[in-house]
Amino acid sequence: MWIFANYYTNLHQSFIRYMLKSESFVFGSFQENTYVIYDETGEGIVLDPGCYELPEQHALSQFISDNKIKITQVVNTHCHIDHVLGNQYVKDKYQVPLAIPEGEMEVLASVKVYAPNYGFPKYQETDVDIFIKSPGTLKFGNTVLKVLLMPGHSPGHLAFYHDDSKVCFGGDVLFQNSIGRTDLPGGDYQTLIRSIHEKMFSLPDEVIVYSGHGPSTTVGQEKRTNPFCAIV
Ligand SMILES: [Zn+2]
Repeated sequence: MWIFANYYTNLHQSFIRYMLKSESFVFGSFQENTYVIYDETGEGIVLDPGCYELPEQHALSQFISDNKIKITQVVNTHCHIDHVLGNQYVKDKYQVPLAIPEGEMEVLASVKVYAPNYGFPKYQETDVDIFIKSPGTLKFGNTVLKVLLMPGHSPGHLAFYHDDSKVCFGGDVLFQNSIGRTDLPGGDYQTLIRSIHEKMFSLPDEVIVYSGHGPSTTVGQEKRTNPFCAIV
């Protein structure tokens, strides 16, 4: 678990101004990172639930109940199969709306067509309740995440940035030493590289990027060393 805290000093007292917390789970054959993001109010969201099998669903809900988190939304950065497999489970379990990027409806609709061939016959298409616009914000508790449009891996892909704690939940745009694939429908290599350079790399170097697969990284590290998009 990571806790991101900012401390604010005000003459005679110092107090925690803000606390964003996050837990990640690696689910399924895709090794997809699912995140529970919450703050000091106890409210939170589930981002990109990849849970499909019962033990995965239990692992997620156990963490949420152990930490007494009130889930208010299930959210997708984009709607490839590995990021949406658990949408219905989270929506039903916590009776919360599903929020997806406004440019990802077609991507989501196609999942039910190919899910059986990928080995996920139990996949259930989930009704969308909220279309997330960019630019815009995503809110829960005291938290306001900035919505950043970063197409290329998929056409409507969004990242969610928290300025106070310098954290970005970046989905499948940028990985440690790699980038999202662009060979799926709606993907485009040049568009992805432009998203990384113009959007992700415009964030401060110290920003921690929590990706949809693999370990976290920072904007500065990928600017220096990423073989696909380093700025030399
Ligand atoms: Zn993807």
